[in-house]
Amino acid sequence: MSMNFSALGRMVRRFPRLHLALSAVLAITVVAMALSPESGESHSQRSQTVTLPKPEPRAEAGAEARPVAARETAPTPAPARPAPVAPEPDWIELEVQSGDTLSALLQEHGVTAAQVHRLVNGDDRLAALARIRPGETLGITLDDQGELNALRYHPTRVQTVKATLGDDGRWQVKSETREYQRRVRFAEATIDNSLFLAGHAAGMSDNLTMQLANIFGWDIDFVLDIRNGDRFRVLYEELYLDGEKVGVGNILAAEFWTQGRHLTAYRFETRSGDADYFDSEGRSMRKEFIRTPVAFSRISSRFSLGRKHPILNKVRAHRGIDYAAPSGTPIKAAGKGKVIFAGVKGGYGNVLILKHGQRYSTLYAHMRGFARGIRVGSRVNQGQTIGYVGMSGLATGPHLHYEFRVDGVHRNPQTVPLPKAQSVTDNEKPQFLVRAKRLEAQMTLFAEAATLASSNVL
Ligand SMILES: [Zn+2]
Repeated sequence: MSMNFSALGRMVRRFPRLHLALSAVLAITVVAMALSPESGESHSQRSQTVTLPKPEPRAEAGAEARPVAARETAPTPAPARPAPVAPEPDWIELEVQSGDTLSALLQEHGVTAAQVHRLVNGDDRLAALARIRPGETLGITLDDQGELNALRYHPTRVQTVKATLGDDGRWQVKSETREYQRRVRFAEATIDNSLFLAGHAAGMSDNLTMQLANIFGWDIDFVLDIRNGDRFRVLYEELYLDGEKVGVGNILAAEFWTQGRHLTAYRFETRSGDADYFDSEGRSMRKEFIRTPVAFSRISSRFSLGRKHPILNKVRAHRGIDYAAPSGTPIKAAGKGKVIFAGVKGGYGNVLILKHGQRYSTLYAHMRGFARGIRVGSRVNQGQTIGYVGMSGLATGPHLHYEFRVDGVHRNPQTVPLPKAQSVTDNEKPQFLVRAKRLEAQMTLFAEAATLASSNVL
């Protein structure tokens, strides 16, 4: 599903109906926002310019250790910037300019190179200070003697690391991560060209549409199965910092109607802390196996048991499927498992065999090579790159020969029913059902508001 997104804009312009739909959706969003019971600022932690209490006078010993001479040897204040007023309890904000180093920046405020060294080496969380980049900001405070006694910076937009010089002369470091404010949003669309165009028309980012495709990708082939008139609804989070939208969070619930099927998915965090998507009964939306472990250009040979011709005695079975793909294309583990063979196997060239639990195994042949760290005994996760397409062994062109065995019997990888991944556990099910019901009700509320809004607008 590779798309040229700049082409999308042009396509949208060619389909004026999408424009109409888009403006309707925008209007809907406004109404929906007003109706949203959940929009608003939950567990947000506002950051403000913190003014530290007046720094405590340091212990005599500490002061002695750094004689005034240290400051006297500091270069005369640069005329470009006014020297800081000595007893300054407030934060001094510094912006990193191109070419600045931490020492250069701090030395302008009378901080010695030795102090900077002690600071950066005082704690792992301060080491990143050595790599500050233009545009980043730092805050510092100086004590009555004009010496650095606190510093704070933001390694990422949501993180603040604050270092304070303790009475014992050691740096005490605290790091805080701000929570995003999360607002629940709703979008819906009917597909009349492609999933991504429909997503665009509904005001969804490509990232969000991709999330949607990933949730349902186990049941719907978005290249082959999508028909005009298929439609979807999605409830998702938008992330804000200080009232400014900074991105899209997770999809909370989604529905898809395609070719007479209606699929529903709810996001749920299990007790192990992993979040995943489940249907209304708590069954995983995922399968234990990826149907196709490689991005292929075409199927060059299908699965066939090809019984031997009784007379010609010639027809050979092809107990796998051949996916033609450029040499070097990554091959993914079809499921979580363990490497039980990694080596050369006659005409199959470089072969990897994975065992998935007691009943299943998958085989990958003609590989150019294995991925780093892949050897017999390695454990792999589903989707992990295990090697690369090649034409080792007897092959007329680069392709992946892929086999799928159930209880030791070769099955057609294209059609074998794939087991579902782990469902919500019995213990967690009551909690899951409550959550699913709540999300369902929320989705219905948004959808009704949207219908109402569109009937007024159009
Ligand atoms: Zn083959």
